Amino acid sequence: MKKLAVLIVALTMVFSLAACGGADAGADSAGSAGAESTSADGSDSAAAEDIYLTLVNKTHPLPENWEDNIELIEMKNAYDEDIRVEKTSYEAFLALRDALLKEGVDIELDSCYRSVERQEELWKEFEEEYGEDYCKKYVAVPGTSEHHTGFAIDVCLKKGDKLIYENEEMMKEVEIWEKVHEMMPEYGFILRFPEGKEDVVGYAYEPWHMRYVGSPAVAKEITEKGLTVEEYLGEDEPDGAAYGYAGDDPIERAAYKYVVDEMSGNYDEADANIPTVNIFYTGNAGEEVLLYGDFELDNYKIDGETLKSVSGGRFPGVMHLKQDGPHHYAVTQFDAVEDGGGFDESAKALFGDQYEAFQKIYSDDEARQELRKTTIADYVKLNELPVTQFQDEGWDPVKL
Ligand SMILES: [Zn+2]
Repeated sequence: MKKLAVLIVALTMVFSLAACGGADAGADSAGSAGAESTSADGSDSAAAEDIYLTLVNKTHPLPENWEDNIELIEMKNAYDEDIRVEKTSYEAFLALRDALLKEGVDIELDSCYRSVERQEELWKEFEEEYGEDYCKKYVAVPGTSEHHTGFAIDVCLKKGDKLIYENEEMMKEVEIWEKVHEMMPEYGFILRFPEGKEDVVGYAYEPWHMRYVGSPAVAKEITEKGLTVEEYLGEDEPDGAAYGYAGDDPIERAAYKYVVDEMSGNYDEADANIPTVNIFYTGNAGEEVLLYGDFELDNYKIDGETLKSVSGGRFPGVMHLKQDGPHHYAVTQFDAVEDGGGFDESAKALFGDQYEAFQKIYSDDEARQELRKTTIADYVKLNELPVTQFQDEGWDPVKL
């Protein structure tokens, strides 16, 4: 992408962000899901699905009083230790295990439900044995492990008389895991930390960690679409300096994420990458949603109380999106207006009947600046930055 001078500016239109609405959406939805009653038969009722889809990860800690909402049952694991698992998850596990035994694969229970205190002990044990780096990669901070839910099951493998339980050894059993993973969705389980999704789930690949999600239908949908729980629930957000989307519209969320992920690549490292998304027309083409807009990304350094713009770019064009989960869209294509001499011609070709609407929003610098200010203010609030103003190079600071 071409780097443009940052004179930027904005427009108030379609995208007003409700900063209060979505900022805590994950924690809220997890909390309310926890309050639902659960039907023990794991039927497809909304309540049952909701609780089994509670998201617990590094940014979504376990809801309070969680244990009041689940039924834990006690049993022994493969090493004859006393363990607990949530009842319906355990029943589903037994059915999966039986089906796999018929295929000559023996999975056994290793680690299942863990209290927050147990996770604290575990962290210490692993830290002493393998060091801090290993812990950060494989062990959850107490309160953020989905083992707290009771729906997560780590299995080990039994081959003849031999129990395979060391992570490194288990990693080598590629063929066995293939069979296990293929059969899991049929029984309501997903692979929680799949290969290639480390950025989304925050953990390295774990073939042994399965998560019960409430029904085969949901498990199959997540698996077939190659999603994670975060993506299925629309809770996957870019990390680090990237923009944390504050609203609750899955189409907007996908558009913002795309601008941050795909349009910042050539820019200098910054403390914050904040998009301004200005849509002037929404259309459809078959299954696709088309967003006609002026997409902008600004990159800032935090300097005291000021966000100082260091680079940025503006990319008018047409974004194509496809729905790939009940609350999730993905951008499949972006057609950008050409820079330089071909600008008008390519804008006319791209926007067609909407070309005049485009010209209008593209030239309205005052409105555009206003939209940008709103978006920055939302970002600052969402990320709790100690910032009161932003400043473009050569311009006076603008109070937020
Ligand atoms: Zn696990």
